[in-house]
Amino acid sequence: MVAGAFTYDGGSVAPGETQNIRYSVSETYLGDPIRIPVTVVNGERDGPTAFLSAAAHGDELNGIEVVREVAHDWDHTDLRGTLVCMPVLNVPGFIAQERYLPIYDRDLNRSFPGDPDSTSAKRIANRVFRNFIEPCDVGLDFHTSTRGRTNMLHVRADMDDPAVARVGNAFASNVIIDGSGPSGSLRREASESGTPTITIEMGEAHRFQRALIDRALSGTLSVLAEFGLRDEAVVAWPGWRTVIDDDVEKTWLRADTGGLVEMHHDRGALVEADDRICTITNPFKQDSDVVRAPFTGLLVGILENPLVYPGNPLCHLVELDDPTRRALENQQAAGDRP
Ligand SMILES: [Zn+2]
Repeated sequence: MVAGAFTYDGGSVAPGETQNIRYSVSETYLGDPIRIPVTVVNGERDGPTAFLSAAAHGDELNGIEVVREVAHDWDHTDLRGTLVCMPVLNVPGFIAQERYLPIYDRDLNRSFPGDPDSTSAKRIANRVFRNFIEPCDVGLDFHTSTRGRTNMLHVRADMDDPAVARVGNAFASNVIIDGSGPSGSLRREASESGTPTITIEMGEAHRFQRALIDRALSGTLSVLAEFGLRDEAVVAWPGWRTVIDDDVEKTWLRADTGGLVEMHHDRGALVEADDRICTITNPFKQDSDVVRAPFTGLLVGILENPLVYPGNPLCHLVELDDPTRRALENQQAAGDRP
């Protein structure tokens, strides 16, 4: 719990105050500051501190809009606690519209918690982590699929850690992929240092996808309700939920031939074992390679760019148990796509 002001290296935000900060995390070759936008909304009433972050991968845009709308469109009159909103973590990648930091293609999301005396990526990560992540009680880090692919909205969380599982469940997504995450990722390092954090994966890079943004805003409000930041809001239940742990069959199906891909299903579709998922053909529309589902499951992610080399991922398929499958069928019969 943060009582009173939210402080960071260079300033503080008093209760009842909102600050838009351009926070310097590095410098360009010209010696100009590289500054990330941070909005700190400190409620009139004491409560937990939550961070929301996006674009740790610079071309993953959906989360930017989620964080901006929470910071600037929501009414925070009754906020209990503090929101630390960081819509663009990887500013150099964002400007270049690239996933990685353009300098040596470093992955900012493998550089946390950072180090003030190490590489440029770790110095940036350190500035962010010490000032705006560590002081928080809970965190949401928004991502999309890698460029050329898309995925249904899902949460990634270490469900073996009760504090993280509380955040993951509260976000109220249908699908949670269980795991602690890669070393150096924001969610893993934040969680291990006492700020339980989840990743939300939603849609594709380079887009604002309104339906997904709206779902993510609902999930965010549900998390704030769970942690007592918004006492008029309620914790949501998504209707059905499946937690994909190591015991659940899941696979990235990969192309065995190069060619042009026709997908036969959208993201979030239920496919039966042996269903055609996609067809790969050569430029003459010959030598069709029909890719079939190895088991009945949910298409959590699919490719969007239809061009593949052998070995390129085609789709991410996860097994569903029978009750979950029936709940999904009911939802889809009602015309709602997860
Ligand atoms: Zn990402």
